[in-house]
Amino acid sequence: MSPSLYTLIEASLPADRARTAIEAPDRSRGPRIWSFSDLLDTTARYAALFVRLGLSRGDRVALQTEKSPEALAVYLACLRGGFVFLPMNIAYRADEVDYLVGNAEPALVICDPSLEPVLSEVCTRRAVPNLLTLDPDAGGSFIDAAAGVTGEVEPAECAADDLAAILYTSGTTGKPKGAMLTHGNLASNGLALRDSWRFTEADTLLHALPIFHAHGLFVACHCALLSGAKMIWLRKFDREDVIRELPRSTVFMGVPTFYTRLLSGEDFSHAPVSHMRLFTSGSAPLLAETFEEFRARTGHAILERYGMTETGMNTSNPYDGERRPGTVGFPLPGVEVRVMSDEGAALGAGEVGGLQVRGPNVFRGYWRMPEKSAEEFTSDGWFRTGDVAMIDADGYVHLVGRAKDLIISGGFNVYPKEIEELIDDMPEVLESAVVGVPHADFGEAGAAVVVLRAGRHLDEAALIARLKDKLANYKVPKRAFFVEGLPRNTMGKVQKNLLRENYRNACEAG
Ligand code: AMP
Repeated sequence: MSPSLYTLIEASLPADRARTAIEAPDRSRGPRIWSFSDLLDTTARYAALFVRLGLSRGDRVALQTEKSPEALAVYLACLRGGFVFLPMNIAYRADEVDYLVGNAEPALVICDPSLEPVLSEVCTRRAVPNLLTLDPDAGGSFIDAAAGVTGEVEPAECAADDLAAILYTSGTTGKPKGAMLTHGNLASNGLALRDSWRFTEADTLLHALPIFHAHGLFVACHCALLSGAKMIWLRKFDREDVIRELPRSTVFMGVPTFYTRLLSGEDFSHAPVSHMRLFTSGSAPLLAETFEEFRARTGHAILERYGMTETGMNTSNPYDGERRPGTVGFPLPGVEVRVMSDEGAALGAGEVGGLQVRGPNVFRGYWRMPEKSAEEFTSDGWFRTGDVAMIDADGYVHLVGRAKDLIISGGFNVYPKEIEELIDDMPEVLESAVVGVPHADFGEAGAAVVVLRAGRHLDEAALIARLKDKLANYKVPKRAFFVEGLPRNTMGKVQKNLLRENYRNACEAG
């Protein structure tokens, strides 16, 4: 039995457990401070509550709440007890949550109190035995239930292959797929990042990312927890809050949008970041222009890395050595990458093809989708990332496109198919295509190109309003255009490259 990720984290914390693990600034009430022993005690209590509620090893615990230290402790309690953590984006609407809950069958759902009416319907329909609430200020029925719990539950022994978390990623089929991540996946990737990025307990990580996504939950938290570093825990990215907290931090992790927002005012310069050790970027391409402007203003070269939900982090620009803008660096220790032609031949330096990954970081497959999982792996065990890439003569990996037409808006993935299906269901609509176009703030945003049925009418505002009822806001196209027909190639496929070109200025005003 290898140690579970929880045991590994516990062993990595500072000997002095009174040190600060998490500081959550709160403008109205003053900062909330959690020491490492607070974090461990809370985690142990939550794990004991899960057992008391009747949960068994392998049962799923779904969480749809705002970011809070308690939400992180729910994740750690799952690791401790051998339960499987299932974070859900707070922006998901009823239909999306219903699908996830129906697919994952959690034994416990913890939600923000504002979502309770929706979740209680979903939980009744899906026969989920336990629903509790948690608000970002440490209130809710979950907190009340945990308050009275005493009695330790020993940390569960977990094999490397045991499930630790399921994170849903939207599929090209329109239905989200649950990526099954094991203790071994998360531990190996966490240690590789901690060591590559030189985290120590002297660090303070300014954490402004959401924790329903691999970037904020795994990349950020594991680096801090596996090194015993402190985290300053912001509920979300707020430019003013980040600039205020940077002088007390040593590391900051962001999606490219965070960096463009920081650079958007003259008040961001060398002064608040002169003592910083590291800025990292990922989840979407960082424009070389942003990299250069950030370096010119602050003296820091942002370290760009590349990963995905299914694999954790695959490549990273070097900590020492040249960080090349427009590239995602080299494979992390233990991770192998290769670029393959459509015919399955390995390509050489400078040649563009499909990027494949192999290593202890690569997930176990999609939850309850064995065929889909098998399709994504080659016969010799490599995972097809769906990203199109090139490795240059110096070994730096360049991502050149996305085979799957993914749109990345503000760092979040939007799969056009999911939106197209909703548009096509509208009675006025014959067909539609959704493509990503440049957007000044979000990097990319969706634009819908729609063909109406003869004699039917629908305007842009009405179409967007209907989508807003069904989808998280970041997935809703920012613009919609009505056309006579979609351009198609001889195989009948919609030529999305032409649409992207035609509508490239659609969101320019930002
Ligand atoms: P997710 O599963 O949400 O983490 O999204 C994974 C996808 O985000 C990858 O397959 C890439 O297409 C994209 N991605 C992640 N990091 C980068 C990066 N540094 N540059 C460009 N695309 C990235």
